[in-house]
Amino acid sequence: MKILRPHEVVSSIFQIDYERLLCSGKRAIIFDLDNTLGPRKSTQLEAQVFTLLGSLKGMGFHVGILTNRRNITNNLSINRLAEDYPLVHRASKPARGGFLFLLDKLDALPKEAVMVGDRIFTDIFGANRLGIYSIRICST
Ligand SMILES: [Mg+2]
Repeated sequence: MKILRPHEVVSSIFQIDYERLLCSGKRAIIFDLDNTLGPRKSTQLEAQVFTLLGSLKGMGFHVGILTNRRNITNNLSINRLAEDYPLVHRASKPARGGFLFLLDKLDALPKEAVMVGDRIFTDIFGANRLGIYSIRICST
């Protein structure tokens, strides 16, 4: 089914051609957390993740984080992320609420936004049905 099909598949967030996304009119990027920005349930994100997000900001992208993870307290790395970027946890993806909240925060229309995540039934389906360009992280 097309609604479950990502627009692109890449092996990591570092393999995405962000320049091309920018040129094609994208201005906001929403990242999933587990198995996207870091390993599942990770408490420590790699420094290069923060560097990448900073570069994206420098390119003019508005960046947000959308995760179904329930508990993000007592997690320094995630808290640091939430200081710099709008972050929604307990998002219950594919529910629309978190996506719409972040689109508003990031001042972007669905067609100007990109969702990057690893799961078909939450990240990709949730994005596709709202008209958000979807990129799947497939690391295996
Ligand atoms: Mg995930």
